[in-house]
Amino acid sequence: MASASTTASSAPVFNTYIDFVTYLKDRKCSKCNTALIQSSKDVDALFQSWLNGKASVNSQIKCKKCSKATTCIACPGHTKPTVTEANGIKVSWCCSRGRLFMIWVLLCGYDQEYCTRKRREAASSSSSSRSGKSQKTSSSGTGVGYSRWSDREFRGDPFGRADAYDRMAGQRTKEAPGGKQKADAQTAERRLDRFDMMVFAVLGALCPSPGNDQNDKVPLSSFDVRPPKAVVSMLVVSRILSKAAELLRNDSLDNATQRTDLYMALITFLKRVGVHDVSKQEVIFDDRLVLPENVNLLTLSFSGAHPPPDRTKETASSLADGLRRLNIQSDMMMRGAQNARNEFKDQPGQDMLWLCREISDLSTHLKIEEWWTQVGGCGSVVGADHGIVEVSDDQMKGMYSYISEALALTQSPPGRIRRLITEITSLKTGLSSGIYVKHAMSRLDIMK
Ligand SMILES: [Zn+2]
Ligand SMILES: [Zn+2]
Repeated sequence: MASASTTASSAPVFNTYIDFVTYLKDRKCSKCNTALIQSSKDVDALFQSWLNGKASVNSQIKCKKCSKATTCIACPGHTKPTVTEANGIKVSWCCSRGRLFMIWVLLCGYDQEYCTRKRREAASSSSSSRSGKSQKTSSSGTGVGYSRWSDREFRGDPFGRADAYDRMAGQRTKEAPGGKQKADAQTAERRLDRFDMMVFAVLGALCPSPGNDQNDKVPLSSFDVRPPKAVVSMLVVSRILSKAAELLRNDSLDNATQRTDLYMALITFLKRVGVHDVSKQEVIFDDRLVLPENVNLLTLSFSGAHPPPDRTKETASSLADGLRRLNIQSDMMMRGAQNARNEFKDQPGQDMLWLCREISDLSTHLKIEEWWTQVGGCGSVVGADHGIVEVSDDQMKGMYSYISEALALTQSPPGRIRRLITEITSLKTGLSSGIYVKHAMSRLDIMK
């Protein structure tokens, strides 16, 4: 019946995305024999239909010619699909190849969006510097458009319910007439964050699970246990890792706390790929590839190149290193909070500590400390961490000229200590080398 039925011995092995794309290009409509994937446009069209809700997030694709029915790209589709959900989006697959196909489409779609975003950012910053005009809301018109993935209102519930999806494309939030431009920019930023969050969340559901993942919602399959290496080959050239690195590089826990749901989706994703044997080394611990601006998984898939031919010689620091730095901040924040519990009683304070605990938990999970000791945490980089030093109060008293004034200040206005902890935490990883700050152990405001 189905011409594609393969025996175990002849089953293709997908070690790279090229192996997989070669297989995909051969997949044909069972009714009219038209190839289902002919160019990158077909991938883009499928991704867009996921975004606008015209198609469900699964491995089904419609034949362009006869468009009779949708079929799974890889199997006759007689198997009962596995259904799960990611942040309110239903995600399902009927076979392992279908699941790999979905990961590929998602990463290709994300890469296009990410590269468009970067081009627009570059264009708008160069045009605004040339004309001196106030900058436009650079990100409001990216390829994401108003979609189901980017327009759900932020509700402060990191794993919000599906019913929140009723706000569909085109419904803008009401903005105060004053400060409209600022509000527009913030709205645009939130929409991009939300889109990124959805991609991390769906990837977190699709990528092979290491098996001890508390986010496992469906039973493990052979795809989880023995995943094709192509998954890793897709991830390492995808821009999703650049986005992950950008988020980890954030020196402001304050900022991260305002984007908790995005960070939580990132953490869920990293817990999968960072623990699974198939991906952890290349995705988390190896230095990242730096690809030319317009090269990404989609373009590489259709130029038939693996490894990427025009990759530049440079690499960027690993995700593990980014996480290590963020964890230094989190640790410090949590220690600071222990000495100033009252300052963290309100919602933002609680949110921040919650995020810090998640970051610390992720670092433990991924064994970041162990890795750091192994790769020689004693190297040149370690000096950077000494930019900010905690010294005993007594020691500080001896070298601080305003000590009597400082000691006289016994009542601290609420919020002041938290602000200080936040600032010192940012300095911890944000200081340029050669600048040193000392602060007293119990009095963060006494600094030198
Ligand atoms: Zn057809
Ligand atoms: Zn299938």
